[in-house]
Amino acid sequence: MGAVPVEDTNTSADRPDPSAEPLPHPVTGAVFPSPVPAGAGWPDDVADADTPVATGPDEVAELATQSSLTEVTARSSVCRACPRLVTWREDVAVTKRRSFAEQPYWGRPTPGWGDAEPRVLVIGLAPAANGGNRTGRIFTGDRSGDWLFAALHRVGLANQPTSEHAGDGLRLAGVRIAAAVRCAPPDNKPSPAERDACSHWIDREVALVLPSLRAVVALGSFAWTAALATLSRAGVEVPRPRPKFGHGAEAQLEYSPRSITLIGSYHPSQQNTFTGKLTEGMLEKLFERAKSLAEFE
Ligand code: SF4
Repeated sequence: MGAVPVEDTNTSADRPDPSAEPLPHPVTGAVFPSPVPAGAGWPDDVADADTPVATGPDEVAELATQSSLTEVTARSSVCRACPRLVTWREDVAVTKRRSFAEQPYWGRPTPGWGDAEPRVLVIGLAPAANGGNRTGRIFTGDRSGDWLFAALHRVGLANQPTSEHAGDGLRLAGVRIAAAVRCAPPDNKPSPAERDACSHWIDREVALVLPSLRAVVALGSFAWTAALATLSRAGVEVPRPRPKFGHGAEAQLEYSPRSITLIGSYHPSQQNTFTGKLTEGMLEKLFERAKSLAEFE
């Protein structure tokens, strides 16, 4: 990855001191400050000190364009384009939830993760402040992820049912997971401007994995809308009016010479799982459907 000198508009006074309280990673035992510097040895971190840093939406667009999948992963993981989200994710990384006080927090954007040539792409809204923002891996270390990975494991698309930390040995089979917005937002609500700024990362990622894709699973209505938008920008035919979100809703999207099926799922948030709106059986059935569409042998 070539270095693109891009000025960082966040002053050092705005940022938490990354040297504060180095703590051991729960799997590797290596010690990290929070937030974790690029290239410090965190499991699956593909960025390094030379990875170019976007400090605004135009720079996100510039750095995403023409990048490889590894470059998208690295560059999105060091992005600083949205000042409000940068402050939030780093503040959470330093203050920490009490139950994770002895762990280092990733405190950076959470990039897409999984198979590099997926048949199934799972799209979520954004990482959780004490989940992906702590572990550095999407849906890892929170209750939503517990449900998601358990379901993927039950249908044979993950090698283990749990996803607690990066470096825990989890592998997905033909599945990739990405967030529409890569920084944890306060109250799980990114602003329209933040959503738009981040769209360049998922646009590039989707464009790169499109040749192998057979199905896209959108977790929640925000992800459904984001999936339709990014697929449309990638050249997939999306009907108008746009298909409506619902649990189990499907939309056949033409991408010659085949189609891609978009499947809607209620988000496995505690709000949905505690109330019974989403059950384990519902989620499992949905991934069985995605698996059958993906025509795994
Ligand atoms: S939300 Fe996306 S665009 Fe904004 S800082 Fe995070 S990674 Fe960058």
